[in-house]
Amino acid sequence: AKSAGGNRFELADPEADARAITRHGLTTALPAALDRGEFFIEYQPLVHLGDGSVRGAEALVRWLHPQHGVLGPDRFIPLAEHTGLIVPLGRWVLEESVRQAGEWRERGGDTDPLRINVNLSPCQLTHPGLVQDTVDILERAGVAPEALCLEVTESALIGADDDLLKPLRRLAEMGVDIALDDFGTGYSNLANLRRLPVSVLKLDRSFTQGMQQFPADPVDLKIVEGIVSLAHSLNLAVTVEGVETGAQAEQLRILGCDTAQGWYYARPGPPDRLHELALVDATG
Ligand code: C2E
Ligand code: CA
Ligand code: CA
Ligand code: CA
Repeated sequence: AKSAGGNRFELADPEADARAITRHGLTTALPAALDRGEFFIEYQPLVHLGDGSVRGAEALVRWLHPQHGVLGPDRFIPLAEHTGLIVPLGRWVLEESVRQAGEWRERGGDTDPLRINVNLSPCQLTHPGLVQDTVDILERAGVAPEALCLEVTESALIGADDDLLKPLRRLAEMGVDIALDDFGTGYSNLANLRRLPVSVLKLDRSFTQGMQQFPADPVDLKIVEGIVSLAHSLNLAVTVEGVETGAQAEQLRILGCDTAQGWYYARPGPPDRLHELALVDATG
């Protein structure tokens, strides 16, 4: 309680205070949480829009906090980025999800191996160990570089100089796919795309939301159509996120998008569920 006089204290917002305390509490708890294994990963299927088959999954990290329950990444990734803990945390996510992809591959028999998409924060990009860590992780899991896709946000690459792009180029040369995540939310310097070692565009959910009605707004359709044709002319595959209805899926398929992700297909879930979804799909 703030007791000093003056009405500026009346502006104090107890909820904001609680949030700040939680933020501080969460920040200081992060390193021990990593040591104690409180983080876990959910997997959301990536579905081929043409035939509906499950081609892989995006790894999405969660924190099972002993007091607050399950926390989503939006609650703690920014804190981990601020303190630098994102580097070891991100490395753990990469290691664990690539290991998981290796396990799916072993259990999958002669079905096509499932690909794994992992989010990279900008701090991981500038960390000198990125390339070697990735090589080591793939080797330990017996997973081919072609089965891995690293997702980097558009904003992380805005104005990126060659030093920042070098590790991504090395990874791309090895066969790792690089996806431009949340595409369309930043400055969208389309000409800039040619310079980036990316092979996948992930269209932000805001575009998918514009496809809610059938038929969608003609301007929205034109914009997505333009992005898809530009992407394809640059040899980039297009993935759409946030697909919640069949109407959205159908319109995005007609527009030529390649892969989709969203609640319409499945919410993020445990690794065994992803494996089952992929199996059901492969056996009809
Ligand atoms: P993102 O990379 O854009 O991931 C997609 C987000 O959309 C996920 O939220 C996912 O659960 C949610 N989503 C999927 N389908 C639908 C849908 O149909 N409708 C709606 N409304 N939402 C859908 P989530 O899991 O809360 O992750 C939020 C963000 O946290 C991610 O956004 C990503 O930027 C970040 N993140 C997650 N895991 C990691 C990680 O391991 N490392 C880093 N650096 N960031 C991560
Ligand atoms: Ca992502
Ligand atoms: Ca995204
Ligand atoms: Ca997003």
